[in-house]
Amino acid sequence: MGLWLIWLVLGTCAAFTYPLLPSWGFAILIGGIIGLISCVVMVLGLRRHRPADMSAWLLIASGLFLWVGGDVVFIAEGLLRETQVYPTYADFVYLTAMPVLALGLFRMSRDRWPRLSARFTDWAIIAVSLAIVYWVFVIGPVATDASLPLSTRLVTTGYPTTGVVLFAVVLPMVVRPGRQTVSRWLLIVGSVFTLICNVLYTLVPAAAAYTMWVGVGYLLAYVCWSTAVLHPSVRMPAAEPVAETFSRGRLLMLSVSMLLVPGVLLIRRTHSVDHLSWLVIGLGSAILFVLILLRLSGFVSAAQSLALHDDLTSLPNRRNFEQRVTAALGAGGSPQVAILNLADFKNINDRLGRAAADRALVAIADRLREATAEPMLVARIGGDEFALLIPDASAAESEVLARQVADALRRPIDTAGLELLLNVRVGISDGDGVSDAGELLRRADTALDAAKRHGSRFRRYVVELDEIAARDAQMGADLRRALDANEQFFLVYQPIVSLPDGRTVAVEALVRWEHPVRGLVGPVEFIPIAERNGLIVELGAWIMRTSCRQAQIWRDELGADAPQYVSVNVSAHQLAQPDFAEFVSSVLKSTGLPGEHLLVEVTETAIFSGGIAVRTLEKLRALGVRIALDDFGTGHSSLGLLQNVPVDVLKVDKSFVDNITMAGRHAVIAEALIKVADGLGLGAVAEGVETAEQAAELHRLGYRLAQGYHFGKPVVSPFREAAGVG
Ligand code: C2E
Ligand code: CA
Ligand code: CA
Repeated sequence: MGLWLIWLVLGTCAAFTYPLLPSWGFAILIGGIIGLISCVVMVLGLRRHRPADMSAWLLIASGLFLWVGGDVVFIAEGLLRETQVYPTYADFVYLTAMPVLALGLFRMSRDRWPRLSARFTDWAIIAVSLAIVYWVFVIGPVATDASLPLSTRLVTTGYPTTGVVLFAVVLPMVVRPGRQTVSRWLLIVGSVFTLICNVLYTLVPAAAAYTMWVGVGYLLAYVCWSTAVLHPSVRMPAAEPVAETFSRGRLLMLSVSMLLVPGVLLIRRTHSVDHLSWLVIGLGSAILFVLILLRLSGFVSAAQSLALHDDLTSLPNRRNFEQRVTAALGAGGSPQVAILNLADFKNINDRLGRAAADRALVAIADRLREATAEPMLVARIGGDEFALLIPDASAAESEVLARQVADALRRPIDTAGLELLLNVRVGISDGDGVSDAGELLRRADTALDAAKRHGSRFRRYVVELDEIAARDAQMGADLRRALDANEQFFLVYQPIVSLPDGRTVAVEALVRWEHPVRGLVGPVEFIPIAERNGLIVELGAWIMRTSCRQAQIWRDELGADAPQYVSVNVSAHQLAQPDFAEFVSSVLKSTGLPGEHLLVEVTETAIFSGGIAVRTLEKLRALGVRIALDDFGTGHSSLGLLQNVPVDVLKVDKSFVDNITMAGRHAVIAEALIKVADGLGLGAVAEGVETAEQAAELHRLGYRLAQGYHFGKPVVSPFREAAGVG
């Protein structure tokens, strides 16, 4: 049995003997002893438990000491004086104890009600309405009674007022949602005892006969407060603030508080002559209050549902989802969170317009609702992102579920007569070692990023992904700095030769990065990062200007020996810029390079989705610039693409060249591709030619252009005699 319980029981019993003792002397003695023991218990408890809000507890303890000091004065006065007087010096000591106590209790509850929060308003409504009632019935009559001496009026109003203040201060502890510790309940109960006793002692004449029982109340307050410090829960800091809710109970409490005011009007005024009109006013205002409240509660529930649901799809929103994840984490199971991203949704938005895209989202949400069942939760957490919570599942189970949901989205979706095919990517994470919802979502998001990076459909979070992301971020920042410094990038040029003679007819510009710390970094490493953070646009502009300037210099210096064209790689992000063609045009103008001497290499993926990219290519064509499909055969290959998109050259990927000299399927593809190119009247360049045998075989198949280490690696100045640009 805890020490606190022993003291609570013993102290309570002792307090009840107070009025039963045969003589006033004994009673005073018992009262004094309980008071002193309470003080000692307080000190012991504070030393033993060292509570978190120590300063508040010290104030409460000081208040208790002052109060017990008041008892000592009271006893001394009793011994010195024959007749009882009112007020006594003890009364003033008691009254100084109250503000100290109130301050301590205030500090204890203060940090948990953010200023001007809904909880504060609720508290203020209750406090104000109680204050009105209190003035009208309790304080008003005494305070305005001129027949009493000032000291009497002060003490008589002081007791109940300080009692009420004390109670008002602990009120937020009572009304706040969430679990309360035993220690805090004891503080609350002690304060209630004090309030009752203060009111009885001064304001209810009939209670004078029971002064002894009022004393019991005060002694119980001592016992409660001191036990509060002895209970181990005193160590616990204030519970976490709970999300604001607007329960019916709270609404009822507020309604009652507000109705108190018209209630007072009614009760006070019905005795007077014009009581009828007062009755009407009172009743009318009461009804009005109720009506306003009803209105308010309707508004509140609407606002609440708005705040927790997505407008468009009425799926739970991010906030709601995070709350549910928090709950799942708290429940102790093994929650799994998956984020589903619709990869090409921006395109759908561009192509079909906002209204159609919205309808598509609604259809997608319906599909998601069908595909999930309790206790799974699906939410819309971004424009084209949805999240899935599986409150308790193993990694394997959750993967099956998440894949099922993603597959449901991959089936064609019918909206406005259009069949949409969605490209869905999933990032998933479990809650192992995660304590908050934000972190769990971040992990799923990191996994999703990795999925996007690798073009895969599904990815689970592992710690290494964070390391990669950090390195990416570092590299991104370095790229930004390198672009500003404008001296770390340079271009190398790889010959494109004619077959079979190996004469250089053109060059491909390839970018290099001389990193101040890491040394030479290859484009395979940094181009994808520049694409992700958008820096590719700026970097690509520099590459375009530099290549065109260089090509024009070669033309000036080498004349007929100059390469016929420079081939520049252009990424999807650049093509998607609406003014890309205008930019190229301005570069051609400023460098003096005719458009026929420039060729841009784009990937199939960059133009697959159509839209701006294809229009840009058409505008480039109008400038005389030619277009090559890079890495042909490895992307979203579709021969149909070749009919709709302006293309002049196919660059046949190295993978089809690699095994060409061995008998097998690859030679078949290389052969088929040259037939396609010939058939459509397109040029073809075989990439990655490393041996003479490959070159001979390619020539035999019909290739007339090739590129590869066999002919020349990319170098800064492929034409020794000509100057380079830096
Ligand atoms: P890509 O456009 O397909 O470029 C060909 C890549 O293959 C180059 O690598 C080149 O050095 C390499 N290569 C050429 N011949 C051979 C060979 O015989 N054997 C082997 N093993 N490799 C060969 P690099 O320069 O590292 O570029 C890699 C990729 O980075 C490029 O692939 C391109 O997608 C991108 N990239 C390079 N420079 C630029 C640029 O200026 N702008 C953009 N947007 N992307 C670039
Ligand atoms: Ca290329
Ligand atoms: Ca290529």
